[in-house]
Amino acid sequence: MMNKVITVTSPLLPPLEEFTPCLEDIWKRKWLTNNGYYHQELEKALCEYLKVPYISLFTNGTLPLICALQAMRITGEVITTPYSFVATTHALWWNGIKPVFVDVDPLTGNMDPEKIEAAITPKTTAIMPVHVYGRPCDTKRIQEIADTYGLKVIYDAAHAFGVEKDGVSIINAGDMATLSFHATKVYNTIEGGALVCHDAQTKQRIDYIKNFGFANETTVVAPGINGKMDELRSAYGLLSLKYVDEAIEKRHQVAIRYREALKDVRGIRYLDDSSGVKHNYSYFPIFVSEREYGMSRNALYEKMKSVGVYGRRYFYPLISTFSTYKGLESSREENLLIAHKMADEVICLPIHHDLGETDIERVLISILK
Ligand SMILES: *Cc1c(COP(=O)(O)O)cnc(C)c1O
Repeated sequence: MMNKVITVTSPLLPPLEEFTPCLEDIWKRKWLTNNGYYHQELEKALCEYLKVPYISLFTNGTLPLICALQAMRITGEVITTPYSFVATTHALWWNGIKPVFVDVDPLTGNMDPEKIEAAITPKTTAIMPVHVYGRPCDTKRIQEIADTYGLKVIYDAAHAFGVEKDGVSIINAGDMATLSFHATKVYNTIEGGALVCHDAQTKQRIDYIKNFGFANETTVVAPGINGKMDELRSAYGLLSLKYVDEAIEKRHQVAIRYREALKDVRGIRYLDDSSGVKHNYSYFPIFVSEREYGMSRNALYEKMKSVGVYGRRYFYPLISTFSTYKGLESSREENLLIAHKMADEVICLPIHHDLGETDIERVLISILK
């Protein structure tokens, strides 16, 4: 009989007995969405937890990307990375913006700041990097370039919940940053997301945009959309927040076990912690060198699967290879050699708060032959 399947992640659920009284309370209030009590409480709690000044909740992590671009009236071309989840680039496309891909840094998978300047044209208005796997981008260098050329910076921080660098929340970098609270992320509200900004007026504008553009009962100030988070998921998120630190620490322990076991395996590379960074261990990517390991990434991926270990090849295929984007000048493979290599070698190993010792051993045995 096949063992139980080990998946790449497992959702962090608040205890059901804590959620039930919230449901009863919501039923009593009869206020289900549109900036209700739990919505306001969760925004406050997240500002505090994430150490950010203003946050607007959304119903998923893709709408804040789309709305950030709307709120700042970004047009023309935006420089971004192909090594991400496809929503990053889709948000540009949905705004009629042309994505311009630049290659990544092999040590982190993040946009290589040294490639940005060459990609700037008179049409460029912004840079949209991603803190891939929750590892901080070189925010200082990116900001310098943005300031020099008069560009906005929007970070897709979907992976970076709770990540800090030198004691400062990485989510504060840039003009705006977006989060995803999808069920597969470190912290989830089932579906959900948020947009972080730095002043009250901008938050106001974002809140109008996520509610069809309504500024009051009769005034519509922008071609807004419906991006609102409801009360049930806000209450769920408020409860989950109490358990997220413990979940991150459990992920940390899994990462320590993996690194210890894989450190001498030829042809397997993993990413170490960076000094000064408080990581969230949202992903544990390994990179398989076929020549040195003696097996291709895809062969290892299938072999792991055959014993019930379901890693995921995040981020393969690269966004630049999808039909919508492959015709772009910047999608040429020669322009994105490092991203292609990483996409061809990566497997994200199972990592989550619920992974037991026997699960960890099964993952490792599937790799160690
Ligand atoms: C998950 C994710 C998103 C989208 O979030 P949803 O909540 O699923 O809409 C955007 N960008 C990145 C990098 C992600 O990993």
